[in-house]
Amino acid sequence: VSDVALPDLVHLPPMEVAGRAGRLREALGATEGSAQALLVTKLVNIRWLTGFTGSAAILLVLPDDRLLFVTDGRYAEQAADQLAAAGVEAEIRMALTAAGQYELLGAAASGLVLGVEADHITWAQERRLDEHFPHVAALVPTEGVVAALRQVKDGGEVARIEAAASVASVALDRVGHLLYERVTENDFGLALDTEIRRLGAEGNSFPTIVASGPNGAKPHHRAAGSPRVIVEGDLVVLDYGALVDGYCSDMTRTVAVGPVGDTETRMYEVVRAAQAAGVAAVRPGATSVEVDAACRSVIGAAGWAEAFTHGTGHGVGLEIHEDPRVSWSVTATLEAGQVVTVEPGVYLAGLAGVRIEDTLVVTGGGSRPLTHSPKNPDFRSW
Ligand code: ZN
Ligand code: ZN
Repeated sequence: VSDVALPDLVHLPPMEVAGRAGRLREALGATEGSAQALLVTKLVNIRWLTGFTGSAAILLVLPDDRLLFVTDGRYAEQAADQLAAAGVEAEIRMALTAAGQYELLGAAASGLVLGVEADHITWAQERRLDEHFPHVAALVPTEGVVAALRQVKDGGEVARIEAAASVASVALDRVGHLLYERVTENDFGLALDTEIRRLGAEGNSFPTIVASGPNGAKPHHRAAGSPRVIVEGDLVVLDYGALVDGYCSDMTRTVAVGPVGDTETRMYEVVRAAQAAGVAAVRPGATSVEVDAACRSVIGAAGWAEAFTHGTGHGVGLEIHEDPRVSWSVTATLEAGQVVTVEPGVYLAGLAGVRIEDTLVVTGGGSRPLTHSPKNPDFRSW
């Protein structure tokens, strides 16, 4: 098995939550329309700004260090506890109905140029704005303001992602032997998911992918419900992650169950080399296009350019897919503190697939991996 150790999930290092709203206020000034306040309706953004993990809240980020946090009665105590634990000072108000909540928010936003999260507001919410915000100076749409700030992780966030990744690696160490025992994709996925929970994670960061033999050629083949039995000679793509304190991990390993064919062996070597080239390209100042091209050129040189059918990677944090995207079609420049994946693959329909994925934190001079399982197709030699 790998030498990955179980992380201490009880004593995770603190995150710097309290300063985030201040950075958001600075960023708002630079938005189109220069919003003075922001109505945050996306829950994961509220979590990032306040530490609140519940399922219903709206946060109004106001000038002069003021935050108005509005939720319903179910979350009165939890909101007070979690914001205090995060060191976040906010006025916490309850209202039982959406109309009541919007009345509170509208009164507080009176006279201000108010930004809304254009990608995360429903039509019903938009109509309530019309109804309950008659006195704002202007409503301006914003896109990706909080998402842009969330890209750069603090040390506590990186530690949570790495802890989640280590739980995921140890879980694979403990159940990987089942791959050689004629297990179905469904049952292997279930064993892996169960072990992740048993080891103390909150759950999976996304539905586990177990894709054996020809199923491996489908990059997002789900384990759940799949009756295919994993047999000798299969390559098995395992793409999965754990969740620790709300933070996701993401790793893909491809395992060869017993001896595999020459094509499969070559696929593995090409993808491993492509992934290493991509990892080597990750550093501050590198563009998404450059990292993508580093992977793609290795696979292209092997004659499989058409078989690498997706982008190279993505940011990881409170969400499994965040900015920055790492792809030929994205204008993004990497900077220290971002957490991104590098996950090239080769997929040959009817035969097999290989993908290898690590999650990396961009450092001052390059990157450091947060996923630590071996990259060797023979699980029994780990
Ligand atoms: Zn993945
Ligand atoms: Zn990924």
